[in-house]
Amino acid sequence: MMKSMMMNTTMKNTMVKKKSKPQRKCVGCNEMKDKSQLIRIAKISDDEFVFDKTGKQNGRGAYICKSKECLEKAFRNKGFERSFKCKISTEIYNGLEQEIQAYEA
Ligand SMILES: [Zn+2]
Repeated sequence: MMKSMMMNTTMKNTMVKKKSKPQRKCVGCNEMKDKSQLIRIAKISDDEFVFDKTGKQNGRGAYICKSKECLEKAFRNKGFERSFKCKISTEIYNGLEQEIQAYEA
């Protein structure tokens, strides 16, 4: 009985400490934003990139705003290529561009 009460107190304290939301940088506009405002793009293989809706996809990831504009910026300023350390082909970019429209607010 006593033991479980102590556990509860510890858990509460941990939650209070984790007040600040996790932030990530958009590879397009390079702004720090709440993770929830961004979407993660994960590299599955050399020529396969997916939008990671769960945030649990394995592989190297980059964060981007849910906007086509930032996707364009990330492509132009080579933010993607820097993050993934590889070339991103126009085909991949076009595929991502089509997909991001579904996430745009
Ligand atoms: Zn952005």
